[in-house]
Amino acid sequence: MEPKARLMEFWIRRALKSIFLPGGVLLLGALLLLKPGLMAFPPLGISFFYYAVFVAAALLAWRFHSTRILFCVVALLLGHHAIVSFGQGQLNASGVARAVFELVAFFIPLDFILLTWFPERGTEGRTLFWFLLLLLIESMLVAVIARPDQTPPGILHGRLIHDYHLHLTQPSLLLFILAAGLLLYRIVEHHKPIDNGMLWALLATGLGLESGAAGRIGTAYFGVAGFILASCIIENSYSLAYQDELTGLNSRRAFNDALLRLKHPFAIAVVDIDHFKNINDNYGHDTGDQVLRLVASKLARVSGGGQTFRVGGEEFTILFPARTASDTADHLELLRLNIEGASFRFRTGHERRKASRESDRRAPSTRRSRESLPRASGMLSVTVSIGLAESQPKARADEVIEEADKALYRAKRGGRNKLEIALVQRKVKRMVKTRKSVQS
Ligand code: GH3
Ligand code: MG
Ligand code: MG
Repeated sequence: MEPKARLMEFWIRRALKSIFLPGGVLLLGALLLLKPGLMAFPPLGISFFYYAVFVAAALLAWRFHSTRILFCVVALLLGHHAIVSFGQGQLNASGVARAVFELVAFFIPLDFILLTWFPERGTEGRTLFWFLLLLLIESMLVAVIARPDQTPPGILHGRLIHDYHLHLTQPSLLLFILAAGLLLYRIVEHHKPIDNGMLWALLATGLGLESGAAGRIGTAYFGVAGFILASCIIENSYSLAYQDELTGLNSRRAFNDALLRLKHPFAIAVVDIDHFKNINDNYGHDTGDQVLRLVASKLARVSGGGQTFRVGGEEFTILFPARTASDTADHLELLRLNIEGASFRFRTGHERRKASRESDRRAPSTRRSRESLPRASGMLSVTVSIGLAESQPKARADEVIEEADKALYRAKRGGRNKLEIALVQRKVKRMVKTRKSVQS
């Protein structure tokens, strides 16, 4: 496959995964289960589910310091309870009940829009203050506007389409579409499970409102929204543990897990960027990070069935299950050439990085040099050295890694930008070659 087509396929697959997992799948499951006439869930069971998931989502959000999810949970609970207590969720309610429904259906997507651009900063401090204030203002507006002697503001009844039959008002639907669009954009851009959870919880809420918000089905959809929010926190903590935040590659922990599942035969390649410290020193740490991300995206697309992990600062490992060193050597050589031939556009002098610096092992001198760098941009290229080893019938995985490390060390000593194969395998290869030439 052409490298460009492979890149395209890689991005599409990654984007689709971040869009649909886990929220999309959960909502699809809920849609099937809640299909009218399919299964009759007892109202008590639905109430239990509703409270259980909201309590779980709130606790998880609090425990994992996810301010955005905590506020989504509170906003959904408050909105749903307002509709239930004012109008019992009758779809054709009028007067106060209808006004409360319209206000809640307007405020929920509005809150999601505000929360979409809000960075995670823990549950304390200014974030908490601003969102509590927002919820307080919204609750007061509901209390003031939803009175028999008041007419709801015109903004709630704006009409663009005349032939319109939904229960949601058109401005509310517009806000739902806007919030979903913003979340979708963020998912494709950052691949974060929290955005995924918010998107699908928002859609579940929209379905809940459209079904009257209260009642069995309405409450069930709100419960599904809570369930999606709870699961996205779990998914988020999983990806924090198993995925490297800077590059999006699988992390060292994922690598250790993968080692436990490996069975002979397999090959392991250890990849290290050449003179990477110089890049940090000359162009700044942020540029170093950009280079790391770009090298990582190339390594992630290795051919030949390899799985790439970021195991340290600028060190990566590629696992090739069920492959030998000679099966993989050509793929790695191609990868090395591909990285050598690529040039990366870089920018320095302004703080671009938002990702974690957890794996940052830079020396204090590097930090000083970045701060004194002038603003600049240009093209940059790097090379990598690779050490490759394959498993022996009774050898342990750490022995194979050790062999690959030794091979990498030789590649470095031999001038860098090289692929070196572990000595044991080279001997075997040489023996095979000699045997072949003797036979011919
Ligand atoms: P060699 O060719 O021998 O591998 O030389 P090197 O300079 O790449 O090797 P060394 O291990 O001395 O330097 C690795 C550098 O990687 C040092 C550290 O500052 C940098 N580094 C580690 N983690 C990160 C990171 O997350 N971001 C950035 N920008 N730099 C990092
Ligand atoms: Mg290194
Ligand atoms: Mg290096």
